Amino acid sequence: MKKHNFYAGPSILPQYTIKNTAEAVLDFAGTGLSLLEISHRSKEFQAVMDETQALFKELLDVPAGYEVVFVGGGASLQFCMVPYNILNKKAAYLKTGVWAKKAQKEATAFGEVVEVASSEDKTFCYIPKGFEAKVPTDVDYFHITTNNTIYGTELHKDPDVKVPLVADMSSDIFSRPIDISKYSIIYGGAQKNLAPAGLAFAIVKVDALGKVDRHIPTMLDYRTHIEAGSMFNTPPCVTVFGALQTLKWLKAEGGVKEMQRRALVKADKLYSAIDGSRIFRPTVTDHEDRSYMNICFVMKDEYKDLEKEFLDFATAQGMIGIKGHRSVGGFRASTYNALPVESVDALVAVMKEFESKH
Ligand SMILES: *Cc1c(COP(=O)(O)O)cnc(C)c1O
Repeated sequence: MKKHNFYAGPSILPQYTIKNTAEAVLDFAGTGLSLLEISHRSKEFQAVMDETQALFKELLDVPAGYEVVFVGGGASLQFCMVPYNILNKKAAYLKTGVWAKKAQKEATAFGEVVEVASSEDKTFCYIPKGFEAKVPTDVDYFHITTNNTIYGTELHKDPDVKVPLVADMSSDIFSRPIDISKYSIIYGGAQKNLAPAGLAFAIVKVDALGKVDRHIPTMLDYRTHIEAGSMFNTPPCVTVFGALQTLKWLKAEGGVKEMQRRALVKADKLYSAIDGSRIFRPTVTDHEDRSYMNICFVMKDEYKDLEKEFLDFATAQGMIGIKGHRSVGGFRASTYNALPVESVDALVAVMKEFESKH
């Protein structure tokens, strides 16, 4: 039976990425050696790293003055690397989920942190309104989480504020065009929309660095990784290779504009099915706050006890990974770039079939 992969992360990747990585595990770039056993200093791998950085910049239209680095530690280490490198006195944070909250907590070790707004009062099921006007103008940066993976909310536009932005884009990078020039740093884990697990990316404005007085440990200093072309220490070679395959696929499919178009088509189909359902309801009711990457829904109260039955029913029909995060409950279908629209159609059909039985 066909499996439809709705996992939130690590998550679905293009077949192109999986097939090419599998082949390179057996024979990497005609070397007769496996991707698993080649030196990261070999000219063949250096070419992979160089091309990955170049394509990353090309596809996101990264302006001059910015560098793309790949580092270990996931998005979670970026929560601390960002303030370590650019928080001088004061930073502002928007608390729209558990990841945002963790990022904010890390920053408190480095300076004053202003919480601009929070949606924690309602389990982060909305994006606070009017937050842009509340951002102080004397902060080093304003930190946002553009897509809240667990709760299914998303900022669909780059906010308009007078200070530089910093964004965690772990789960919506490459799903829409971004005005990079508004940001000092954009970072994320690769394992949601780009590559297998093992890597974080950061798009860094070079000018924003070097303005803090504190000593930055070598490995936590963005300049180390910029200067060494993300090869200061051994990078996760398989993950970088996987990222390159996804970027090549993305380019061939039409780039981030096309991904944005497809994301809307998929999200429209699924949200319409949820909104029109007798037994399901959405957890994010404000349409403009709804994520196009992680779509959350629960059973209506009178059908609450059918939750487990639906999960088993859907799983038996090949819908994999739709269990909601434990803090929200219910269901979450992640509709990342690589998820074909057919998978959304299949899920909608399963939901309708289940509904007709109850
Ligand atoms: C998954 C996720 C993280 C955590 O990523 P790690 O790479 O596991 O540290 C952080 N932020 C967001 C928005 C995420 O979706």
